[in-house]
Amino acid sequence: QLILGIETSCDETAVAIVKNGQEIAANVVASQIESHKRFGGVVPEIASRHHVEEMTIVLEEALKQAEVTMKDIDAVAVTEGPGLVGALLIGVNAAKALAFAHQKPLVPVHHIAGHIYANRLITEMQFPLLALVVSGGHTELVYMKEHGHFEVIGETRDDAAGEAYDKVARVLNMPYPGGPHIDRLAQEGAASIPLPRAWLEEDSYDFSFSGLKSAVINTVHNAEQRGETIAPEDLAASFQESVIEVLVAKTERAVRQYGVKQVLLAGGVAANKGLRNALNNTFSKSEEVELVIPPLFLCTDNAAMIAAAGSVMFEKGIRADLSLNANPGLEIEKYN
Ligand code: ATP
Ligand code: MG
Ligand code: FE
Repeated sequence: QLILGIETSCDETAVAIVKNGQEIAANVVASQIESHKRFGGVVPEIASRHHVEEMTIVLEEALKQAEVTMKDIDAVAVTEGPGLVGALLIGVNAAKALAFAHQKPLVPVHHIAGHIYANRLITEMQFPLLALVVSGGHTELVYMKEHGHFEVIGETRDDAAGEAYDKVARVLNMPYPGGPHIDRLAQEGAASIPLPRAWLEEDSYDFSFSGLKSAVINTVHNAEQRGETIAPEDLAASFQESVIEVLVAKTERAVRQYGVKQVLLAGGVAANKGLRNALNNTFSKSEEVELVIPPLFLCTDNAAMIAAAGSVMFEKGIRADLSLNANPGLEIEKYN
């Protein structure tokens, strides 16, 4: 089974071809970071325009890499949402055109289901499992009892983890996207600055990062007013410790309560070295639960993950017709 996946939810134009839901035959990503950097974030109109320009080039490159033609493809999977509506639309329309022209089934995919299924490109998934999703727009704990079935047991009530990283990076005058810069800086500093941890209610698996973000901003401004300087590496280390401590503790509690066999890490913030180390320290000695962390190129947005999730949705019989629309508010439980 060969699935062609298309991803355009944000600022990566990506097409991939995945065999049997697990093997990457092609994985092409055209990143737009350079175009958005000078604005300090993703500009939706610019993202859409780049997707239009890049789509056919990336598609042809993917077919070439996999050494196949559209005839060999069993289905076209595409990110339906969530994401920027104008950006999503380019991918959805490309997928519809391909499916129509070549008479292939069209399979809608949730972007976060894709992030989770990036893990299936490196190992077999074992159920029940728990996915810790940490990305630019999401921070969630997702329970899966079987393939293609998602239950959100906790989510952020305000900022996503990646969003908090990017906003804190901006305060420290670092370029967009700030997550990797904070991560690097944090390795050089000491977590010596007291910052809050948002545990919320005792039994809650929800997250909150806006208080922490404000605390970092206040710390910087207060120091400025007093004419003092704070070592940015110490601030980065302290911020990172606060984020990771809460993420890991809630994941650990959920692992125990739900008795899962695997913990999967997913989303762009999964690239974070501090988080990867902390999860490894917590779970590597466990005999009951296996920790799976994707390689960096599968953590940030790509289409291999969309094809991998699309493969499972295709097997489940999930189909879209030519009326498929981009859905920026799509819920992950929709196709359960
Ligand atoms: P979503 O998947 O929720 O729709 P998105 O697709 O924009 O959002 P991703 O591409 O999954 O998000 O991840 C991008 C985010 O990951 C950015 O916020 C970026 O700063 C963050 N990020 C990337 N690398 C690191 C790192 N090493 N440490 C912390 N954050 C990181
Ligand atoms: Mg991106
Ligand atoms: Fe993403």
